[in-house]
Amino acid sequence: MSKKEIPYKIYLEEHEMPRQWYNVRADMKKKPAPLLNPETHEPMTEDDLAKVFCRELVKQELDDTTPYIDIPQEILDFYKMYRPAPLVRAYCLEKKLGTPAKIYYKFEGNNTSGSHKLNSAIAQAYYAKQEGLKGVTTETGAGQWGTALSMACSYFDLDCQVYMVKCSYEQKPFRREVMRTYGAQVTPSPSMSTAVGRKINEEFPGTNGSLGCAISEAVEAATSQEGYRYVLGSVLNQVLLHQSIIGLETKAALDKYGEKADIIIGCAGGGSNLGGLISPFVGEMVRGEADYKIIAVEPISCPSLTRGKYSYDFCDTGKVCPLQKMYTLGSGFMPASSHAGGLRYHGMSSVVSEIYDQGLMEARSVRQTDVFEAAQTFARVEGILPAPESSHAIKVAIDEAMKCKETGEEKTIVFGLTGTGYFDMFAYQRYNDGQMQDYIPTDEEIEKALAKLPDM
Ligand SMILES: *Cc1c(COP(=O)(O)O)cnc(C)c1O
Repeated sequence: MSKKEIPYKIYLEEHEMPRQWYNVRADMKKKPAPLLNPETHEPMTEDDLAKVFCRELVKQELDDTTPYIDIPQEILDFYKMYRPAPLVRAYCLEKKLGTPAKIYYKFEGNNTSGSHKLNSAIAQAYYAKQEGLKGVTTETGAGQWGTALSMACSYFDLDCQVYMVKCSYEQKPFRREVMRTYGAQVTPSPSMSTAVGRKINEEFPGTNGSLGCAISEAVEAATSQEGYRYVLGSVLNQVLLHQSIIGLETKAALDKYGEKADIIIGCAGGGSNLGGLISPFVGEMVRGEADYKIIAVEPISCPSLTRGKYSYDFCDTGKVCPLQKMYTLGSGFMPASSHAGGLRYHGMSSVVSEIYDQGLMEARSVRQTDVFEAAQTFARVEGILPAPESSHAIKVAIDEAMKCKETGEEKTIVFGLTGTGYFDMFAYQRYNDGQMQDYIPTDEEIEKALAKLPDM
Protein backbone atom coordinates (compact mmCIF):
# COMPACT_ATOMS: atom_id res chain seq x y z
CA MET A 1 0.00 0.00 0.00
CA SER A 2 1.44 3.38 -0.92
CA LYS A 3 1.14 5.77 1.95
CA LYS A 4 -1.39 8.55 1.63
CA GLU A 5 -0.10 12.07 2.19
CA ILE A 6 -1.01 13.06 5.73
CA PRO A 7 -3.09 16.23 5.96
CA TYR A 8 -2.49 18.89 8.58
CA LYS A 9 -5.63 17.79 10.37
CA ILE A 10 -6.98 14.26 10.31
CA TYR A 11 -10.71 14.47 10.77
CA LEU A 12 -12.86 11.41 11.13
CA GLU A 13 -16.22 11.49 9.39
CA GLU A 14 -19.20 11.64 11.70
CA HIS A 15 -20.04 8.01 10.90
CA GLU A 16 -16.49 6.95 11.82
CA MET A 17 -16.90 8.26 15.36
CA PRO A 18 -16.68 5.53 18.03
CA ARG A 19 -20.12 4.40 19.22
CA GLN A 20 -18.83 2.59 22.30
CA TRP A 21 -16.48 3.57 25.11
CA TYR A 22 -13.60 1.22 25.89
CA ASN A 23 -13.09 -0.07 29.43
CA VAL A 24 -9.41 -1.04 29.71
CA ARG A 25 -10.01 -2.66 33.13
CA ALA A 26 -11.72 -5.54 31.32
CA ASP A 27 -8.47 -6.46 29.55
CA MET A 28 -6.10 -5.85 32.45
CA LYS A 29 -4.95 -9.13 33.95
CA LYS A 30 -4.32 -7.57 37.33
CA LYS A 31 -7.21 -5.17 38.02
CA PRO A 32 -7.03 -1.86 39.86
CA ALA A 33 -7.82 -2.27 43.58
CA PRO A 34 -11.46 -1.67 44.63
CA LEU A 35 -12.77 1.43 46.44
CA LEU A 36 -13.09 0.77 50.17
CA ASN A 37 -15.57 2.00 52.73
CA PRO A 38 -13.59 4.41 54.96
CA GLU A 39 -15.12 2.99 58.15
CA THR A 40 -15.26 -0.77 57.56
CA HIS A 41 -12.45 -1.06 54.97
CA GLU A 42 -14.74 -3.42 53.01
CA PRO A 43 -15.13 -2.89 49.24
CA MET A 44 -17.81 -0.30 48.45
CA THR A 45 -20.99 -1.92 47.14
CA GLU A 46 -23.32 -0.61 44.46
CA ASP A 47 -25.80 0.43 47.16
CA ASP A 48 -23.16 2.26 49.21
CA LEU A 49 -22.07 4.27 46.19
CA ALA A 50 -25.63 4.92 44.93
CA LYS A 51 -26.28 7.14 47.94
CA VAL A 52 -23.86 9.68 46.50
CA PHE A 53 -23.59 8.87 42.78
CA CYS A 54 -26.09 8.10 39.98
CA ARG A 55 -26.98 4.40 39.70
CA GLU A 56 -25.82 3.80 36.12
CA LEU A 57 -22.55 5.61 36.79
CA VAL A 58 -21.99 3.40 39.85
CA LYS A 59 -22.40 0.36 37.60
CA GLN A 60 -19.77 1.74 35.25
CA GLU A 61 -17.54 2.52 38.23
CA LEU A 62 -17.62 -1.08 39.45
CA ASP A 63 -17.54 -2.82 36.06
CA ASP A 64 -14.17 -4.55 35.63
CA THR A 65 -15.31 -7.03 32.99
CA THR A 66 -17.20 -5.38 30.09
CA PRO A 67 -14.67 -4.16 27.50
CA TYR A 68 -17.04 -2.10 25.34
CA ILE A 69 -19.98 -0.06 26.61
CA ASP A 70 -22.49 1.53 24.20
CA ILE A 71 -22.60 5.32 24.16
CA PRO A 72 -26.28 6.29 24.35
CA GLN A 73 -27.62 8.09 21.26
CA GLU A 74 -28.39 11.33 23.19
CA ILE A 75 -24.74 11.55 24.25
CA LEU A 76 -23.55 10.82 20.70
CA ASP A 77 -25.82 13.63 19.46
CA PHE A 78 -24.18 16.06 21.87
CA TYR A 79 -20.66 14.76 21.04
CA LYS A 80 -21.38 15.55 17.38
CA MET A 81 -21.57 19.27 18.20
CA TYR A 82 -17.82 19.33 18.89
CA ARG A 83 -16.49 15.91 17.88
CA PRO A 84 -14.82 14.05 16.26
CA ALA A 85 -11.91 16.12 17.55
CA PRO A 86 -9.07 16.59 15.05
CA LEU A 87 -5.76 14.74 15.27
CA VAL A 88 -3.31 17.37 14.08
CA ARG A 89 0.05 16.67 12.48
CA ALA A 90 2.28 19.34 13.97
CA TYR A 91 4.18 19.98 10.73
CA CYS A 92 5.07 23.53 11.79
CA LEU A 93 6.41 22.45 15.18
CA GLU A 94 8.45 19.65 13.57
CA LYS A 95 9.99 22.18 11.17
CA LYS A 96 10.71 24.67 13.95
CA LEU A 97 12.46 21.96 16.00
CA GLY A 98 14.21 20.49 12.98
CA THR A 99 13.33 17.01 14.14
CA PRO A 100 12.92 13.90 12.00
CA ALA A 101 10.17 12.80 14.42
CA LYS A 102 6.53 13.00 13.39
CA ILE A 103 4.48 14.82 15.99
CA TYR A 104 0.72 14.54 16.32
CA TYR A 105 -1.61 16.08 18.87
CA LYS A 106 -5.20 15.28 19.69
CA PHE A 107 -6.93 18.63 20.25
CA GLU A 108 -9.72 18.62 22.83
CA GLY A 109 -10.09 22.39 23.25
CA ASN A 110 -12.65 22.98 20.52
CA ASN A 111 -15.68 23.68 22.69
CA THR A 112 -16.78 26.54 24.93
CA SER A 113 -15.57 24.87 28.13
CA GLY A 114 -12.17 24.71 26.43
CA SER A 115 -11.17 21.21 27.54
CA HIS A 116 -11.78 17.47 27.36
CA LYS A 117 -13.89 17.59 30.54
CA LEU A 118 -17.08 18.02 28.51
CA ASN A 119 -16.71 14.39 27.30
CA SER A 120 -17.55 13.10 30.78
CA ALA A 121 -19.76 16.00 31.91
CA ILE A 122 -22.28 15.25 29.18
CA ALA A 123 -22.33 11.54 30.04
CA GLN A 124 -22.78 12.18 33.76
CA ALA A 125 -25.55 14.75 33.18
CA TYR A 126 -27.31 12.33 30.83
CA TYR A 127 -27.41 9.48 33.37
CA ALA A 128 -28.59 11.87 36.11
CA LYS A 129 -31.44 12.99 33.86
CA GLN A 130 -32.29 9.36 32.98
CA GLU A 131 -32.56 8.57 36.66
CA GLY A 132 -35.14 11.35 37.03
CA LEU A 133 -32.96 13.52 39.26
CA LYS A 134 -33.53 17.24 39.71
CA GLY A 135 -29.89 18.19 39.68
CA VAL A 136 -26.26 17.52 40.49
CA THR A 137 -23.67 19.10 42.74
CA THR A 138 -19.94 19.33 42.26
CA GLU A 139 -16.81 21.26 43.17
CA THR A 140 -14.49 23.11 40.86
CA GLY A 141 -11.01 24.42 41.47
CA ALA A 142 -9.76 26.46 38.54
CA GLY A 143 -13.21 26.19 36.94
CA GLN A 144 -12.78 23.93 33.90
CA TRP A 145 -14.88 21.11 35.26
CA GLY A 146 -17.63 23.43 36.57
CA THR A 147 -17.81 25.09 33.16
CA ALA A 148 -18.13 21.77 31.34
CA LEU A 149 -20.75 20.49 33.76
CA SER A 150 -22.84 23.65 33.54
CA MET A 151 -22.94 23.29 29.74
CA ALA A 152 -23.98 19.65 30.01
CA CYS A 153 -26.67 20.36 32.62
CA SER A 154 -28.22 23.19 30.64
CA TYR A 155 -28.44 20.85 27.63
CA PHE A 156 -30.42 18.29 29.64
CA ASP A 157 -32.29 20.89 31.73
CA LEU A 158 -30.81 19.78 35.06
CA ASP A 159 -30.07 22.00 38.03
CA CYS A 160 -26.30 22.45 38.52
CA GLN A 161 -24.81 23.56 41.85
CA VAL A 162 -21.10 24.28 41.80
CA TYR A 163 -18.94 24.88 44.88
CA MET A 164 -16.03 26.91 43.60
CA VAL A 165 -12.87 27.29 45.68
CA LYS A 166 -13.17 30.84 47.08
CA CYS A 167 -9.87 32.22 45.77
CA SER A 168 -10.73 31.05 42.21
CA TYR A 169 -14.26 32.43 42.57
CA GLU A 170 -12.73 35.83 43.26
CA GLN A 171 -9.68 35.59 40.97
CA LYS A 172 -11.30 33.86 37.99
CA PRO A 173 -14.52 35.81 37.46
CA PHE A 174 -14.72 34.89 33.77
CA ARG A 175 -15.09 31.16 34.28
CA ARG A 176 -17.62 31.87 37.02
CA GLU A 177 -19.65 33.96 34.58
CA VAL A 178 -19.53 31.28 31.86
CA MET A 179 -21.04 28.87 34.39
CA ARG A 180 -23.75 31.37 35.37
CA THR A 181 -24.50 32.04 31.71
CA TYR A 182 -25.25 28.32 31.35
CA GLY A 183 -27.56 28.53 34.37
CA ALA A 184 -25.38 27.03 37.12
CA GLN A 185 -25.58 28.25 40.69
CA VAL A 186 -22.00 29.02 41.74
CA THR A 187 -21.18 29.28 45.45
CA PRO A 188 -17.77 30.30 46.81
CA SER A 189 -16.41 27.58 49.10
CA PRO A 190 -16.27 27.40 52.07
CA SER A 191 -19.82 28.76 52.20
CA MET A 192 -22.35 29.24 54.99
CA SER A 193 -24.92 27.04 53.23
CA THR A 194 -23.55 23.65 54.37
CA ALA A 195 -22.67 22.40 57.86
CA VAL A 196 -19.13 21.50 56.81
CA GLY A 197 -18.69 24.94 55.21
CA ARG A 198 -19.88 26.73 58.36
CA LYS A 199 -17.54 24.62 60.47
CA ILE A 200 -14.53 25.40 58.29
CA ASN A 201 -15.41 29.11 58.22
CA GLU A 202 -15.60 29.11 62.01
CA GLU A 203 -12.30 27.26 62.44
CA PHE A 204 -10.41 29.22 59.78
CA PRO A 205 -11.99 32.68 59.47
CA GLY A 206 -11.16 34.35 56.15
CA THR A 207 -9.87 31.10 54.55
CA ASN A 208 -9.46 31.03 50.76
CA GLY A 209 -10.83 27.52 50.58
CA SER A 210 -9.38 24.39 48.98
CA LEU A 211 -10.49 21.70 46.58
CA GLY A 212 -10.78 19.16 49.39
CA CYS A 213 -13.11 21.44 51.31
CA ALA A 214 -15.26 22.17 48.22
CA ILE A 215 -15.62 18.41 47.62
CA SER A 216 -16.89 17.93 51.17
CA GLU A 217 -19.46 20.73 50.69
CA ALA A 218 -20.65 19.40 47.33
CA VAL A 219 -21.09 15.88 48.74
CA GLU A 220 -23.08 17.25 51.67
CA ALA A 221 -25.25 19.33 49.33
CA ALA A 222 -25.99 16.22 47.24
CA THR A 223 -26.87 13.94 50.14
CA SER A 224 -28.98 16.55 51.97
CA GLN A 225 -31.25 17.53 49.05
CA GLU A 226 -33.93 15.25 47.63
CA GLY A 227 -33.27 14.37 43.98
CA TYR A 228 -29.61 15.39 43.86
CA ARG A 229 -26.41 13.42 43.33
CA TYR A 230 -22.73 14.33 43.39
CA VAL A 231 -20.58 14.21 40.24
CA LEU A 232 -16.80 14.36 39.85
CA GLY A 233 -14.75 15.43 36.84
CA SER A 234 -11.69 13.19 37.10
CA VAL A 235 -10.01 10.36 39.06
CA LEU A 236 -12.99 7.94 38.97
CA ASN A 237 -13.13 4.86 36.70
CA GLN A 238 -16.35 6.09 35.05
CA VAL A 239 -14.64 9.35 34.02
CA LEU A 240 -11.76 7.46 32.41
CA LEU A 241 -14.28 5.29 30.60
CA HIS A 242 -16.01 8.36 29.08
CA GLN A 243 -12.66 9.89 28.20
CA SER A 244 -11.70 6.76 26.23
CA ILE A 245 -13.40 8.53 23.31
CA ILE A 246 -10.14 10.53 23.05
CA GLY A 247 -7.96 7.45 22.60
CA LEU A 248 -10.42 5.61 20.36
CA GLU A 249 -10.65 8.55 17.95
CA THR A 250 -6.87 9.00 18.03
CA LYS A 251 -6.33 5.38 17.13
CA ALA A 252 -8.97 5.45 14.39
CA ALA A 253 -7.38 8.58 12.87
CA LEU A 254 -3.88 7.05 12.92
CA ASP A 255 -5.18 3.80 11.43
CA LYS A 256 -6.87 5.73 8.64
CA TYR A 257 -3.42 6.77 7.40
CA GLY A 258 -1.56 3.59 8.33
CA GLU A 259 0.36 5.41 11.07
CA LYS A 260 1.54 3.77 14.28
CA ALA A 261 2.42 5.71 17.42
CA ASP A 262 5.76 4.97 19.08
CA ILE A 263 5.45 7.38 21.99
CA ILE A 264 2.18 8.55 23.60
CA ILE A 265 2.24 11.45 26.04
CA GLY A 266 -0.39 13.00 28.28
CA CYS A 267 -0.53 15.37 31.24
CA ALA A 268 -1.72 13.87 34.50
CA GLY A 269 -3.82 15.64 37.13
CA GLY A 270 -6.41 13.15 38.32
CA GLY A 271 -5.56 11.01 35.30
CA SER A 272 -8.74 11.25 33.21
CA ASN A 273 -7.45 12.66 29.92
CA LEU A 274 -4.30 10.56 30.10
CA GLY A 275 -6.26 7.43 30.99
CA GLY A 276 -8.73 8.10 28.19
CA LEU A 277 -6.00 8.75 25.62
CA ILE A 278 -3.92 5.68 26.45
CA SER A 279 -6.69 3.14 27.21
CA PRO A 280 -7.01 1.60 23.71
CA PHE A 281 -3.21 1.49 23.35
CA VAL A 282 -2.69 -0.06 26.80
CA GLY A 283 -5.42 -2.54 25.83
CA GLU A 284 -3.26 -3.64 22.88
CA MET A 285 -0.23 -3.89 25.17
CA VAL A 286 -1.91 -6.08 27.77
CA ARG A 287 -3.39 -8.29 25.05
CA GLY A 288 0.12 -8.68 23.63
CA GLU A 289 -0.75 -7.09 20.27
CA ALA A 290 1.50 -4.03 20.24
CA ASP A 291 4.02 -2.09 22.26
CA TYR A 292 4.17 1.62 22.99
CA LYS A 293 6.22 3.96 25.13
CA ILE A 294 3.69 5.84 27.25
CA ILE A 295 4.67 8.88 29.32
CA ALA A 296 2.60 10.63 32.01
CA VAL A 297 3.67 14.21 32.72
CA GLU A 298 3.01 15.88 36.05
CA PRO A 299 4.10 19.16 37.65
CA ILE A 300 7.26 19.00 39.75
CA SER A 301 5.26 20.85 42.44
CA CYS A 302 2.70 18.01 42.72
CA PRO A 303 4.57 14.79 41.83
CA SER A 304 2.15 12.02 42.83
CA LEU A 305 3.47 9.40 40.37
CA THR A 306 7.17 10.24 40.53
CA ARG A 307 7.48 10.83 44.29
CA GLY A 308 4.24 9.53 45.83
CA LYS A 309 3.41 6.18 47.36
CA TYR A 310 1.13 3.45 45.95
CA SER A 311 -1.28 3.08 48.80
CA TYR A 312 -4.89 3.41 49.93
CA ASP A 313 -5.73 7.03 50.72
CA PHE A 314 -8.59 9.48 51.08
CA CYS A 315 -9.71 11.17 47.88
CA ASP A 316 -10.58 14.43 49.66
CA THR A 317 -9.26 16.51 52.55
CA GLY A 318 -12.58 16.19 54.40
CA LYS A 319 -12.21 12.36 54.33
CA VAL A 320 -15.86 11.80 53.38
CA CYS A 321 -15.18 9.92 50.12
CA PRO A 322 -14.26 6.21 49.79
CA LEU A 323 -10.65 5.09 50.15
CA GLN A 324 -8.88 4.55 46.88
CA LYS A 325 -5.63 2.73 46.14
CA MET A 326 -3.50 5.10 44.12
CA TYR A 327 -0.19 6.88 43.80
CA THR A 328 -0.64 9.64 46.36
CA LEU A 329 1.20 12.39 48.16
CA GLY A 330 -1.26 12.14 51.06
CA SER A 331 -4.66 13.84 51.22
CA GLY A 332 -3.17 16.51 53.48
CA PHE A 333 -0.51 17.43 50.90
CA MET A 334 -0.89 21.11 49.99
CA PRO A 335 0.73 21.66 46.59
CA ALA A 336 2.35 25.07 46.14
CA SER A 337 0.15 27.37 44.11
CA SER A 338 0.85 26.63 40.49
CA HIS A 339 -0.63 27.94 37.30
CA ALA A 340 -1.81 24.52 36.20
CA GLY A 341 -4.76 24.33 38.59
CA GLY A 342 -6.07 21.18 36.91
CA LEU A 343 -2.93 19.24 37.90
CA ARG A 344 -2.92 20.09 41.62
CA TYR A 345 -4.44 16.89 42.94
CA HIS A 346 -2.68 14.84 45.63
CA GLY A 347 -3.65 11.46 44.13
CA MET A 348 -4.17 9.75 40.79
CA SER A 349 -6.82 7.58 39.11
CA SER A 350 -6.53 3.99 40.34
CA VAL A 351 -6.50 2.68 36.75
CA VAL A 352 -3.61 4.97 35.76
CA SER A 353 -1.85 4.09 39.05
CA GLU A 354 -2.14 0.36 38.35
CA ILE A 355 -0.95 0.78 34.74
CA TYR A 356 2.07 2.67 36.08
CA ASP A 357 2.72 0.11 38.81
CA GLN A 358 2.72 -2.69 36.23
CA GLY A 359 5.45 -0.88 34.32
CA LEU A 360 3.27 -0.22 31.26
CA MET A 361 3.88 3.51 31.55
CA GLU A 362 6.63 5.95 32.59
CA ALA A 363 6.17 9.21 34.45
CA ARG A 364 8.09 12.48 34.38
CA SER A 365 7.75 15.65 36.40
CA VAL A 366 8.48 19.04 34.87
CA ARG A 367 8.99 22.63 36.05
CA GLN A 368 6.33 25.20 35.20
CA THR A 369 8.84 27.68 33.76
CA ASP A 370 9.93 24.99 31.26
CA VAL A 371 6.27 24.18 30.62
CA PHE A 372 5.47 27.80 29.71
CA GLU A 373 8.53 28.00 27.49
CA ALA A 374 7.20 24.95 25.61
CA ALA A 375 3.70 26.49 25.53
CA GLN A 376 5.10 29.65 23.96
CA THR A 377 7.11 27.73 21.34
CA PHE A 378 4.01 25.73 20.47
CA ALA A 379 1.63 28.72 20.34
CA ARG A 380 3.95 30.67 18.06
CA VAL A 381 4.12 27.99 15.39
CA GLU A 382 0.93 25.94 15.74
CA GLY A 383 -1.45 28.83 16.36
CA ILE A 384 -3.25 27.35 19.38
CA LEU A 385 -2.76 29.02 22.77
CA PRO A 386 -2.54 25.94 25.00
CA ALA A 387 -3.80 25.49 28.58
CA PRO A 388 -0.98 25.34 31.16
CA GLU A 389 -2.05 21.77 32.02
CA SER A 390 -1.83 20.63 28.38
CA SER A 391 1.53 22.34 28.02
CA HIS A 392 3.06 19.74 30.36
CA ALA A 393 2.52 17.21 27.57
CA ILE A 394 3.89 19.65 24.98
CA LYS A 395 7.08 20.03 27.02
CA VAL A 396 7.80 16.30 27.04
CA ALA A 397 6.74 15.87 23.40
CA ILE A 398 9.34 18.52 22.47
CA ASP A 399 11.97 16.78 24.65
CA GLU A 400 11.31 13.47 22.90
CA ALA A 401 11.38 15.12 19.46
CA MET A 402 14.74 16.70 20.30
CA LYS A 403 16.12 13.29 21.30
CA CYS A 404 15.10 12.06 17.85
CA LYS A 405 16.98 14.98 16.35
CA GLU A 406 20.15 13.77 18.10
CA THR A 407 19.75 10.14 17.14
CA GLY A 408 18.15 10.70 13.75
CA GLU A 409 15.25 8.39 14.62
CA GLU A 410 11.95 9.05 12.88
CA LYS A 411 9.67 8.23 15.77
CA THR A 412 5.98 8.98 15.80
CA ILE A 413 5.01 10.99 18.85
CA VAL A 414 1.37 11.51 19.83
CA PHE A 415 0.31 13.78 22.66
CA GLY A 416 -2.95 14.99 24.16
CA LEU A 417 -3.62 18.72 23.84
CA THR A 418 -6.37 18.87 26.43
CA GLY A 419 -7.43 22.48 26.16
CA THR A 420 -6.96 26.15 25.47
CA GLY A 421 -5.50 28.71 27.86
CA TYR A 422 -7.59 31.84 27.28
CA PHE A 423 -8.65 31.96 30.92
CA ASP A 424 -5.06 31.53 32.08
CA MET A 425 -3.63 34.78 30.80
CA PHE A 426 -2.63 35.84 34.30
CA ALA A 427 -0.25 32.86 34.29
CA TYR A 428 1.09 33.81 30.86
CA GLN A 429 1.53 37.36 32.17
CA ARG A 430 3.70 36.10 35.04
CA TYR A 431 5.77 34.11 32.58
CA ASN A 432 6.11 36.99 30.11
CA ASP A 433 7.15 39.32 32.94
CA GLY A 434 9.81 36.84 34.09
CA GLN A 435 8.09 36.47 37.46
CA MET A 436 7.16 32.82 37.33
CA GLN A 437 8.80 30.62 39.94
CA ASP A 438 9.29 26.90 40.34
CA TYR A 439 8.57 25.17 43.55
CA ILE A 440 9.88 21.69 44.38
CA PRO A 441 8.52 20.12 47.56
CA THR A 442 11.17 18.90 50.02
CA ASP A 443 11.40 15.24 51.08
CA GLU A 444 10.31 16.32 54.58
CA GLU A 445 7.13 17.91 53.25
CA ILE A 446 6.21 14.80 51.32
CA GLU A 447 7.08 12.47 54.19
CA LYS A 448 4.97 14.56 56.55
CA ALA A 449 1.89 14.26 54.32
CA LEU A 450 2.53 10.55 53.66
CA ALA A 451 2.77 9.88 57.40
CA LYS A 452 -0.96 10.63 57.57
CA LEU A 453 -2.06 7.90 55.18
CA PRO A 454 -4.90 5.86 56.67
CA ASP A 455 -3.92 2.78 58.71
CA MET A 456 -4.92 -0.26 56.69
C1 LIG B 1 -8.67 19.30 34.27
C2 LIG B 1 -7.69 19.43 33.19
C3 LIG B 1 -6.58 18.56 33.10
C4 LIG B 1 -6.24 17.53 34.13
O1 LIG B 1 -7.22 16.63 34.47
P1 LIG B 1 -7.10 15.06 34.17
O2 LIG B 1 -8.25 14.47 34.88
O3 LIG B 1 -5.79 14.62 34.71
O4 LIG B 1 -7.18 14.92 32.72
C5 LIG B 1 -5.73 18.69 32.01
N1 LIG B 1 -5.93 19.63 31.08
C6 LIG B 1 -6.97 20.49 31.13
C7 LIG B 1 -7.12 21.52 30.07
C8 LIG B 1 -7.88 20.41 32.18
O5 LIG B 1 -8.91 21.25 32.23
